[in-house]
Amino acid sequence: MIESADPMNTPAPGIRVQHLQKTFQQGRVQACRDVNLDVAGGELLVLLGPSGCGKTTTLRCIAGLEPPDNDDAVWVGGRNLTRVPPRERNLAFVFQDTALFPHLNVRRNISFGLDMRRALKRVEIRRRVDGVARMLRIEHLLERKTAELSGGQSQRVALGRAIVMEPQAFLLDEPLANLDAALRVEMRTEIKRIQRRLGTAMIFVTHDQEEALSLGDKIAVMVDGVVQQVATPQDIYLRPVNLFVATFIGSPPLNRFTCTIEREGEALHLRSTLFSLPLPTEQAARLGNAGGEITLGIRPEFVELDGSRADAEGRVALVEPLGSRSLVFVECGGEEIRIAVHGESPVREGDAVKIGIPPERTLLFGPDGKNLTA
Ligand code: ADP
Ligand code: MG
Repeated sequence: MIESADPMNTPAPGIRVQHLQKTFQQGRVQACRDVNLDVAGGELLVLLGPSGCGKTTTLRCIAGLEPPDNDDAVWVGGRNLTRVPPRERNLAFVFQDTALFPHLNVRRNISFGLDMRRALKRVEIRRRVDGVARMLRIEHLLERKTAELSGGQSQRVALGRAIVMEPQAFLLDEPLANLDAALRVEMRTEIKRIQRRLGTAMIFVTHDQEEALSLGDKIAVMVDGVVQQVATPQDIYLRPVNLFVATFIGSPPLNRFTCTIEREGEALHLRSTLFSLPLPTEQAARLGNAGGEITLGIRPEFVELDGSRADAEGRVALVEPLGSRSLVFVECGGEEIRIAVHGESPVREGDAVKIGIPPERTLLFGPDGKNLTA
């Protein structure tokens, strides 16, 4: 049974990607402009970003399936692997579309990579495959043909094929994208549990922010071939470095208001078409000289509904009850404000309500999108 990829108790190798650049078509397509990642041994890093931002290319460069433009971009366990052939890297790559061998049964699909290793005895291979199958709860499927498997089962077999190789690290490219919603949630929990048990570094690629928040020890948010921020899920959510990260993470998304800074006597105020908020002293000191337009952002759960503050007034347009919380959409001077409340909504559609925007819960972004409050 495989308990750990590292029986000697030496630290699991980490992955470092530094200033990775990758262009296609003689430089016309810049898939990776400047990708920097540091994944400690035993850490699960989620690479998150919209479609086309360069996630797959990054992973393929780490795996050795694409050559990066620069020579020292990929390091594993302190070794520069940038120009090392893929088969010598000992990294496991699981894709979105599982390509299992249809003419082989599940056992042979899982053992395929091991069968190639002449040094391994058959009984050892059998022991390893049985161990992995138990871990993935597919022991009962080992003798089946892969054509008889469901999508979730096929993905388990693909994972099994990776795990059985006892790789230095796992690279997973949207492995759950083709599964239905309930199965995705179940499988992601399972992947995290297995990663914890193996203690092997893992990079998990997704475009789904909820998946990223739930899985990652750290999340790297990528856009246009550049990693914008690498941080814990909590930090990414509460302290995003810029407006892109702030709006990409969080569901429903951040409320945003365009504001100007105005001086009223000694105090600075943020003025929008809906409200005028005095700036807390600390923020005022920092923003005093920031000219131009400021974007104020506030997460839906931090907006106060009929509380002690009345920064704006509006009317409830829609209520979405979601069980453990409710989403309330308030129409307010031509803008819609999203508010999340615990449990049942205290208001109904059509109600006139007071909106409170506590300044200590706001995020302020400069004209270039940089977070001025972080
Ligand atoms: P993601 O996985 O984040 O959706 P990709 O890494 O697949 O993004 O692609 C990043 C960009 O590089 C896209 O614009 C894509 O069209 C381009 N690209 C990827 N692979 C190739 C290739 N082999 N040839 C040309 N362009 C490519
Ligand atoms: Mg991709």
